[in-house]
Amino acid sequence: MTRNAELYERACRTIPGGVNSPVRAYRSVGGTPPFIERAAGPYVWDADKQRYIDYVGSWGPAILGHAHPAVIKAVQDAAVNGLSFGAPTEGEVQLAEMLCERMPSIEQVRMVSSGTEATMSAIRLARGFTGRDKIIKFEGCYHGHADSLLVKAGSGLLTFGNPTSAGVPAEFAAHTLVLDYNDLDAVEAAFKEYGGQIACIIVEPVAGNMNMVQPKPGFLQGLREQCTRHGALLIFDEVMTGFRVGPQGVQGRVGITPDLTTLAKVIGGGMPMGAFGGRRDVMAKIAPLGPVYQAGTLSGNPIAVAAGITTLRLIGEPDFYARLETQTARLVKGLCSLASEAGIPFSADSVGGMFGIYFRDTIPTSLAEVSASNVDAFNQFFHAALSRGVMFAPSAFEAGFVSAMHDDAVIKNTLDVAQAAFAEITA
Ligand code: PLP
Repeated sequence: MTRNAELYERACRTIPGGVNSPVRAYRSVGGTPPFIERAAGPYVWDADKQRYIDYVGSWGPAILGHAHPAVIKAVQDAAVNGLSFGAPTEGEVQLAEMLCERMPSIEQVRMVSSGTEATMSAIRLARGFTGRDKIIKFEGCYHGHADSLLVKAGSGLLTFGNPTSAGVPAEFAAHTLVLDYNDLDAVEAAFKEYGGQIACIIVEPVAGNMNMVQPKPGFLQGLREQCTRHGALLIFDEVMTGFRVGPQGVQGRVGITPDLTTLAKVIGGGMPMGAFGGRRDVMAKIAPLGPVYQAGTLSGNPIAVAAGITTLRLIGEPDFYARLETQTARLVKGLCSLASEAGIPFSADSVGGMFGIYFRDTIPTSLAEVSASNVDAFNQFFHAALSRGVMFAPSAFEAGFVSAMHDDAVIKNTLDVAQAAFAEITA
């Protein structure tokens, strides 16, 4: 028995499904997950000492590559001064200043410990600010696991949603209207019908949780216009895209200003960190200034803050994103031409340092289109690549991430593996 298999068996005895977050369990692709022992640069090593080129990147945070020496040093230096104080620190102020400076839509920001906390708090704030209960989200966008966000579309057009998880009361889901991504007509219809009751729209401005799906031209602008017209807030959930697709997230790329933005992943440099921020008048409604309650024992944790500040400093260097975007585009282009040579229906897309690979002919624009891809072919490709030392996310419905350490040699190595993997596909 391999050490990975032993650990998995042992994990399953005390941890449900052997994992602390479901997609790590390899249910979607089959098999058991490698247990990771260490990571450096573009690589992770498992418990059987197998090395993988990593395109999961801890699901987004590892933009500098794993265990960047400067980030590790910042964490070590911070740790000797104490792990948590439950009192304000200068580091938090510095990180807040960096976030406000780099994301022009953020005038004030509150730190939390995860993306889920950030979106949950932003929604509560939007409701508290507007005095309205209903929210709009889009099918296929994931905003963490808060009750009102684990919701799928109802059965009819413009009907309120149904829970996607047991344990979420139908009454909670009943406040969430779930529409198709990129369907601006549906958004307009929703506001026509429920305008005065809608507190906010929350959207992944480039979706990364139904594989990667880009907004169609005009979609995000349309959301902005509808929200402004009807007095609702626009929340860009940039937990994944923030500092991943460019120095100012998607909002900087498209020039659209949301009222609130949620962040996590990259801003913690691999430590637990999230944040939500935006308009000063809206943020003034948060406790202790205002009536909307939100709190956290470990919020603004000094170790996470140190990792975040160092990460933001390093990704702020000139040409960082140009290089990252070039390498990601090189990977995606290479995969497309290899698939085409192998006669496999395949397409791929990238924005900044994130990418999507789709076993279908055209790049999808909605969850329905992503769902119509060949999942069996993806699963075969995934395992063929994994067995040759390249780790993609273990699901056809996840985006991939490139780091600054994925240099030409790493991309070439990946493409050599991909060529062999495409050749193995029979589905
Ligand atoms: N929002 C988006 C867009 C995400 O991608 C995620 C996690 O993948 C979350 C929110 C939830 O973040 P966390 O897992 O840190 O709670």
